[in-house]
Amino acid sequence: MIPKWKINILWVVALIAWPFVLWISYHHYFISIEGNVLDIFLFAIFMCIVALFPITIQEAPVFFVNGISIAVFLSFGLFVEIILTIVAVLLVLFRSGIKRSQSYRIPLNMLMFAVISILSVEIYKMFGGSHGEILHGNTTEIVAIFVYAISIFIINQLLIKLINFALLGQKSKFFDKGLRWELTSSLLVIPVGFVLYILYSEIGRAAIFYLSIPFISISVILKLLYNYQEVNRYLKRTGEVGHRLAQNLEVTEVFNVFMHDLVNLLPVNGAYVYQAVGEKELKLIRSEHSTTSSNESYDGPESFSMEVLSTKQPILFKSSKEWAKSMHFCSLDNAESVLSLPIEYNDQIIGVVTVISSEKKSYDKIHLRILNIVTSYLGVAIKNAQHYETTKNDSEKDGLTNLYNYRFLEKTLELHFEGNPKDLGATSIIILDIDHFKMINDTYGHEAGNEILRELANRLKIIIGDEGLVARYGGEEFIVFLPGVALSEASRMAEMVRREIQKRSFQVDNHILNQDEPVDIAITASVGVATYPEHCESPTDLIRYADRAMYIGAKQKGRNKVGVYNDLNSEFIL
Ligand code: GH3
Ligand code: MG
Ligand code: MG
Repeated sequence: MIPKWKINILWVVALIAWPFVLWISYHHYFISIEGNVLDIFLFAIFMCIVALFPITIQEAPVFFVNGISIAVFLSFGLFVEIILTIVAVLLVLFRSGIKRSQSYRIPLNMLMFAVISILSVEIYKMFGGSHGEILHGNTTEIVAIFVYAISIFIINQLLIKLINFALLGQKSKFFDKGLRWELTSSLLVIPVGFVLYILYSEIGRAAIFYLSIPFISISVILKLLYNYQEVNRYLKRTGEVGHRLAQNLEVTEVFNVFMHDLVNLLPVNGAYVYQAVGEKELKLIRSEHSTTSSNESYDGPESFSMEVLSTKQPILFKSSKEWAKSMHFCSLDNAESVLSLPIEYNDQIIGVVTVISSEKKSYDKIHLRILNIVTSYLGVAIKNAQHYETTKNDSEKDGLTNLYNYRFLEKTLELHFEGNPKDLGATSIIILDIDHFKMINDTYGHEAGNEILRELANRLKIIIGDEGLVARYGGEEFIVFLPGVALSEASRMAEMVRREIQKRSFQVDNHILNQDEPVDIAITASVGVATYPEHCESPTDLIRYADRAMYIGAKQKGRNKVGVYNDLNSEFIL
């Protein structure tokens, strides 16, 4: 952003310079208006038509009137050229809906134009250029016109680089995209402008009609060519987005990548991704907005997205005027352009993506198409990631209790023991086996036993919390992995687990007793503890020793006890 004071200075300088430039061009240089008013008017119309096909390079409109302006300059003088060019420039700026952040371009372009005009006309005179004399092999005149065209081009480019550096602090490559396009267009347009001048001198106003078709065609072709290149550039980046999305197997990561790429791909002030919950509801999954006003309300994007969900059709608005008519319920400050479209998978809407810009005409059909491709990549990537996560979850978790299964715990333990054992610190394992569980199954039924296992799993998760990882070891046996927990703390936790199980009975709905009400079933458990490095050196030993501690230290000693594997005391002979 350019500071406001710099923009104000630009306006002041431009407004002071302009009357002077007009005055000097009127009095000091060649001028030929009398008798030519109609021709000048025709040239003006011609220029305006060409100006209707601008291309936008780095947010600045570029158009191809320079050929005509040279013909105007040579035929009627600097004053007329300036007036006509300014009319064309203003037409372009207002028609393409000058963006608020780009409004500094008006005084800037006016100033640049003034400097370029005066300097190049001086160079033209220096090289012996004159007006009104028909060429007929006059070499000086041809050279002067050639030098004049080149100086306009060079001064313009130098000024652009200087301004980019001084005003915007940008150091760009000298031969950048802007320069390439200016050069291509000048090479095409200036010779035609030259021919226009000669033909106009020879046959008068009919020349304007004869040359208008090739001239306008060149402008249209250049615009098409530019758009084609833009589309290619977008497609390339879209392909890259698709590639990155496909590489991610986690749903959260897929959304992160999508959000990151989306804000880089399109001009956005707000980007929102929703997940469809059924056919009538949306859940906001990700949002990003550069807030420009503090009271900005964000129920707006949701209104657009809901509309897309219900109509199944994308939305493209280029200004608030367009959407205010149909979406009067939407309260969204600072939003002009809106693009919203469904995320589809297998012909089903699984979500909605909405982007908003505070500038008018930020989005066009091309952006809609691009976003359409990107969201279809997103749809596939989300489904793939969801599928992967479900499969992964299924292979890691136990179906009955939703705890991690033994295989997962074994892998975690192995990973934990990888690397330098010195860095490991203490590691403990608690193993727990429900006492006389067979009897509970026999008395209350297998389903009642399942209910107890599920409830016990939940309780264990709560008791252990972040301290460790609870897994189902086998039928009615559970295992707790406690990284960084020493023997004394592990024993304390084992005792707490044992006590908690004994203290609160388990309420069971599905039992085989002859009554409708739920029954309370009291259970106890035998618990075993082993710790690395006190008791063993490897992860497999750790589990084995905890198991032994449970059997020998708790089960054999009458159950409902905690047994600690203690090698040093040689309490157990293994
Ligand atoms: P103790 O451990 O105190 O020696 O006696 P126990 O009866 O608990 O011992 P045992 O290991 O012999 O029996 C375990 C029982 O747990 C056998 C089986 O019926 C039951 N069981 C194992 N898995 C499940 C399960 O998923 N659901 C239910 N309901 N019961 C299970
Ligand atoms: Mg058992
Ligand atoms: Mg048991």
